[in-house]
Amino acid sequence: MYFIANWKMYGNLSSINTVKNVINLSKKTKFKKIKIIYCPPYTLLRPLIKKLRKSKIQVGAQNCHTDNEFGAYTGSVNAKMIKSVGGKFVIIGHSENRLEGDSNKKINLKIKSSLKENLKVIFCIGENLKEKRNKKTNKILKSQIINGLKNVKNLNNIIVAYEPIWAIGTGIIPKSNDLDKKVKTIKKILNKRFKSKNPKVLYGGSVNSKNISDLTQISSIDGFLIGGASQKSKNFIDIIKKTIN
Ligand code: PEP
Repeated sequence: MYFIANWKMYGNLSSINTVKNVINLSKKTKFKKIKIIYCPPYTLLRPLIKKLRKSKIQVGAQNCHTDNEFGAYTGSVNAKMIKSVGGKFVIIGHSENRLEGDSNKKINLKIKSSLKENLKVIFCIGENLKEKRNKKTNKILKSQIINGLKNVKNLNNIIVAYEPIWAIGTGIIPKSNDLDKKVKTIKKILNKRFKSKNPKVLYGGSVNSKNISDLTQISSIDGFLIGGASQKSKNFIDIIKKTIN
């Protein structure tokens, strides 16, 4: 089970201390098997990595540039730079970045440059409300997967996160039955494309300590990508505890 914290554009140096309780939790035998990954803003990558050095909790970035060589790209950070400070993961294709211009083609370049640096990719896909209403979800998911993972050889370093855009930050989550169906559809597309037996598919979108008990009943889901509720350690811990108990 993965629990991936996406801090988005929140947090400063003092936020680092909030992970103390999560470190303690991760040391308890019961929680040994779960994987906790923090994806803070770039500015907090190094301090968080230092803080988590003696724990099993890993750290990743929230995005990267398509080019993994140094270059004149003001404001950008590439996969090699993330790796050089000890980052192990990177979120690619988040809908907030898709809205800012990340096409499937650009996402594919970012994924390939991350894989070249041996980063594990958390590849976000999901439909918007209009696409859902027009029953286009499966078509959109398939196109995001096929184009985003073009020329990618296997899923060894890829975790897919299904994040319906209408569920992100809205407090609304899909009906359990629908969500199970979508996750299974995604796994089917991945199985067909990669002949992979066990693709990892997470769910993301308004996960919190109240709805987590329902979400964990859906056995097709391999973990959660958590935005808002991951920023306070109490909420994040509640979510993890309720999943394991
Ligand atoms: C996200 O940003 O990936 C996310 C799932 O956000 P939230 O949990 O706040 O909906």
